[in-house]
Amino acid sequence: MRRSRPVDARWLRELPKAEVHCHLEGCVPPSLVEDAARRRRLDPTGAPRLPVRDLPALLAYLDWSCRLVDSAEDLAAIAGGIVERAAAAGVRHVDVICNPTHWAAWDGRLDQMVAALDRGFADGEVRRRTTATLCLSIKRTQSAAEAVALVEWMLSAGHPRVSGLSIDGDEAGGSASHTERFEEAFARAAGGGLRRCAHAGESSGPHGVRDAVDRLGAEWVDHGIRAVEDRRLVGELAERRIPLDVCPSSNVILGVVPSLAEHPLPRLHEAGVRISLNTDDPLLYGVDVPGEYRRCAEEFGWDRAVLGEVARTSIDSCFAPAERRAALLAELEWFLGS
Ligand SMILES: [Zn+2]
Repeated sequence: MRRSRPVDARWLRELPKAEVHCHLEGCVPPSLVEDAARRRRLDPTGAPRLPVRDLPALLAYLDWSCRLVDSAEDLAAIAGGIVERAAAAGVRHVDVICNPTHWAAWDGRLDQMVAALDRGFADGEVRRRTTATLCLSIKRTQSAAEAVALVEWMLSAGHPRVSGLSIDGDEAGGSASHTERFEEAFARAAGGGLRRCAHAGESSGPHGVRDAVDRLGAEWVDHGIRAVEDRRLVGELAERRIPLDVCPSSNVILGVVPSLAEHPLPRLHEAGVRISLNTDDPLLYGVDVPGEYRRCAEEFGWDRAVLGEVARTSIDSCFAPAERRAALLAELEWFLGS
């Protein structure tokens, strides 16, 4: 019997893949935040600090850090940095989730914010072979009217960089997180041809995952790992081929799972659920995509065939245009066959 070839660092880096669960807010270099705070002569006493250890602490840090970014140059640099790091990690396309509620300095100027990010992504794309789209996100605690307003802006602006609608934030906020409030926004997004994804099954249980898929029409679920608590739901996800975009290190760092060894990833994979591996907030956790693949290979004994399947899911489910996805899938098959 032919033994599977080893999963080494070079192979993991060169493996063509996409990242579909990466927040703009988690890609702001801490040094940029410190510079911005210093420029404004802000007293750092009492400011949320890294490292964060749970979701509320993370959200507080994001509000603090992102509201300091008020120049278009800084936004463009953040976007350019995302493409650069993705390219270095063999990530050939990245869907960047951006939640405008964290970026207080750009309140009411979403068009300028998207234009600045677009410039940074475009500059990076020229230098590298990696592409990027922007996925604008509703915060769980927003009102139905605010959610619809965001979608209306997306549809009227029609910016080619903006590929889809997302929802994130704390799912465990009781009535504040009720999914039905966002159904209209997601329905309008679908009607207008936008792609859709949703955070669920991180701070909410399996019902959150079911709501994301059935009520919001999410094409993939960010995290979604607590689906494992409902065997029937796991079967449905597998049968309907709905991917879960999992961020193993983030789940451990924020205490969603006690350790990687106890992560439900292998059970979900063995049940036939399609999975991609992602970083969530790479600069806050000090992780990259090849590192997430490597950790899973080591912990779960995943070989090249399984990791190739993960990469295939990531490309297949990303929000890049169809022809870009087809080209990347062809590149992946060539790589796996060589
Ligand atoms: Zn996330």
